[in-house]
Amino acid sequence: MSSNSGIQIPSRLPLLLTHEGVLLPGSTMRISVETARNMHLVKNRLLKGTSLKSTIIGVIPNTRDPEHDTEDLPTLHSIGTAGLAVQVVGSNWPKPHYTLLITGLCRFRVAQLLKEGPFPVAEVEQLDKLEQYTSPEEMSEAAGPEGELGELSQRFYQAAVQLVGMLDMSVPVVAKLRRLLDSLPRETLPDVLASMIHTSNKEKLQVLDAVSLEERFKKTLPLLTRQIEGLKLLQKTRKLRPDDNKRVLAVRKGGVLPGHQFSLDEEGDDEDGDDTAVLERKVKGANMPEPALRVCLKELKRLKKMPQSMPEYALTRNYLDLMVELPWSKSTTDCLDIHAARVLLDSDHYAMEKLKRRVLEYLAVRQLKSTLKGPILCFVGPPGVGKTSVGRSIARTLGREFHRIALGGVCDQSDIRGHRRTYVGSMPGRIINGLKTVGVNNPVFLLDEVDKLGKSLQGDPASALLEVLDPEQNHSFTDHYLNVAFDLSQVLFIATANSTATIPPALLDRMEVLQVQGYTQEEKVEIAHRHLIPHQLEQHGLTPQQLQIPQDTTQDIISKYTREAGVRSLERKIGAICRAVAVKVAEGHNVTKSEAAPAESAPQGAEHGEGKRGRRGEEPDGVSADMAAPPDMPIVIDHIALKDILGPHVFEMEVSERLTLPGVAVGLAWTPLGGEIMFVEASRMEGEGQLTLTGQLGDVMKESAHLAMSWLRSNAKTYQLTNMVGGSDPLEGTDIHLHFPAGAVTKDGPSAGVTMVTVLASLFSGRLVRSDVAMTGEITLRGLVLPVGGIKDKVLAAHRAGVKRVIIPKRNEKDLEEIPANVRVELDFVTASNLDEVLNAAFDGGFPGMSNPLTLPHIVSKL
Ligand code: ADP
Repeated sequence: MSSNSGIQIPSRLPLLLTHEGVLLPGSTMRISVETARNMHLVKNRLLKGTSLKSTIIGVIPNTRDPEHDTEDLPTLHSIGTAGLAVQVVGSNWPKPHYTLLITGLCRFRVAQLLKEGPFPVAEVEQLDKLEQYTSPEEMSEAAGPEGELGELSQRFYQAAVQLVGMLDMSVPVVAKLRRLLDSLPRETLPDVLASMIHTSNKEKLQVLDAVSLEERFKKTLPLLTRQIEGLKLLQKTRKLRPDDNKRVLAVRKGGVLPGHQFSLDEEGDDEDGDDTAVLERKVKGANMPEPALRVCLKELKRLKKMPQSMPEYALTRNYLDLMVELPWSKSTTDCLDIHAARVLLDSDHYAMEKLKRRVLEYLAVRQLKSTLKGPILCFVGPPGVGKTSVGRSIARTLGREFHRIALGGVCDQSDIRGHRRTYVGSMPGRIINGLKTVGVNNPVFLLDEVDKLGKSLQGDPASALLEVLDPEQNHSFTDHYLNVAFDLSQVLFIATANSTATIPPALLDRMEVLQVQGYTQEEKVEIAHRHLIPHQLEQHGLTPQQLQIPQDTTQDIISKYTREAGVRSLERKIGAICRAVAVKVAEGHNVTKSEAAPAESAPQGAEHGEGKRGRRGEEPDGVSADMAAPPDMPIVIDHIALKDILGPHVFEMEVSERLTLPGVAVGLAWTPLGGEIMFVEASRMEGEGQLTLTGQLGDVMKESAHLAMSWLRSNAKTYQLTNMVGGSDPLEGTDIHLHFPAGAVTKDGPSAGVTMVTVLASLFSGRLVRSDVAMTGEITLRGLVLPVGGIKDKVLAAHRAGVKRVIIPKRNEKDLEEIPANVRVELDFVTASNLDEVLNAAFDGGFPGMSNPLTLPHIVSKL
């Protein structure tokens, strides 16, 4: 820390007017706040402010009699002390008031009063230089004041030493005071001592007003001498009564050191003495590497010489506390058994076979070679597919601690690497914080959402993360706050992301990406019954004897209340059901069937006779709603109960409804949140052949639209497409508008090409696209269909939406293997290599005017 950089107090200060004495720089004082003005200041400034600056206030001695302190502001004493509010305590007894603990920083002069109410605020001019704390060693290098001032300060110092010498050095606070005399800058001594020795407020006010240092020494020296003389007298009388042990006590009672930070509160100081000793022991026992130990011992030495009231005392103390808490050499032993790991992974997670296999391989290699500096696994997939949860399982199989570090929105590198300690309020970064939390140096750290890292002027967090993840560098990771290296090589890092597209390339390069795909409807049902329902029951204190959710209810929840690739909202919906049932169970427990879910639905059942009958037929335990069930009967959630609890269906199958006009087709899109179906719409109107595109499209998508348009125009004759006036150029006299709904979401990529062609073909031919088909594929100008990505997610989305036929590019045929068999059997897959085939499959009875009527769509399924 640089020793010469002076600290500036804010140029505007709120003013606290106090009757309770004079706060001098370097001393600490308790001030009771009772007047309305001061209460406002405390409430609006000290209690609301968040930065250190907002805890600095100006303290001005109020010379007016408190009895006559009225509403309007008294004339202010022109000089005050800027103070740091160290503590604010509020109380309502005997009347509302606050007690502030304030440490004086420096003098200021009120330059201009800016406002009077609700509390005064003034423009101030700082009068004393406020230096950061310098250790005595550093200080001795700096030359002291010279000339008369030097002589004065020397005399003052000697008097102070003499005063302290008269006190009992075996009392720790006196010893500390003696040390402080040497370590404090000389020019601060008059203020410090004037506030310690017995002085009247009037005398203190004179010291406060002594702005020039020379005058200040001159004003305080006589006070010091008076105190020394007083003490001498006291000692003389004591000699007559040789009860010397009581000396210090008497001195204290005599008020040598009233109410000052170094007050002779033996207990307090013993504690403090002990405290540093305890800290020292901890430092030595923390088993830290040599360089860290050296730094700690140096800081400890500084700490011992610092007055506690200094803001820097707390900073150094916090630093040392962190250093001793860090797990420098504490670690857990890995207890890896591949067989057990497999069992655990399987029992924790349903499906996701590919991921589990890779994780096991990874673990097996670690078992064989524990020093492995292997790749960092990065799970990429939509939310709620179990990425975090697999990470947690890995930690469990290894017997390691687990800690999740959320990186979403982190845009400052100091979030990763900490703030330098020179900043007020500086903190270590999340990595070091995480290590402190887990308390061992080999945890599993899950870096969640690495794709959501931001960037800002405060440096790039990704580059800081690189250092953390790089096995070549991370054995000596230096957090700015710690300022010594910490070995991260034992930490097992796992990352998660929704998409690789936004992961900074250098970071991606360090990681092995494992795709985690969305689940099929059936997989979700299984996951719900094996994991989510038991887990939610337990969380809500319910048992399967109290609540049952049959499979077809789960299916309803999945298809009618959620639309997602993962199972997160499914879990939430199950949670909602559990809460509703928990209320029932808690409300007296004698839940009869007539009160429970089916009965609850009875009125509705009456309205919807159909539903009721259907439900009764499905009732697994054959209990009818009319029959009062015994109290220990489980509450079974059927369709009607489901509607009662979760409300009307959120999602309905809408595909067939929307395809009732020419110019609409269903495309398949891939988003970081999984696959989605997308209705593409087109309309035409009279115009000059303009193509309008809406729905926040990216450049690639706009180009696809133009491609589709050009291809159709050039093939208009073949397909017997006409314009509105009967000509062969479909665009003649016509404007076309293509729209991709959910306009708020930016879309890009080439894979909507085939859909656009189909939509336009439908529009120009006036024929409807089959209502049960969805498609994806990139097109070329010559009408070829090129492969696209994300086939599995897209197909699952189509399946979720109830589509029956999916058109994909021929070269994507191999991707169909990834699709679960039960989904495959329910879908027709058409693999198309050119647009003829696409159009032929998209329209009932094929598309007229095919160049080669023998090119029939190639139907792969039903497998
Ligand atoms: P992500 O990190 O991918 O966003 P989470 O790991 O937080 O998702 O998973 C959300 C919830 O879904 C968790 O409660 C998790 O246990 C559960 N879950 C997800 N996939 C599975 C699965 N295959 N088997 C069991 N539970 C799962």
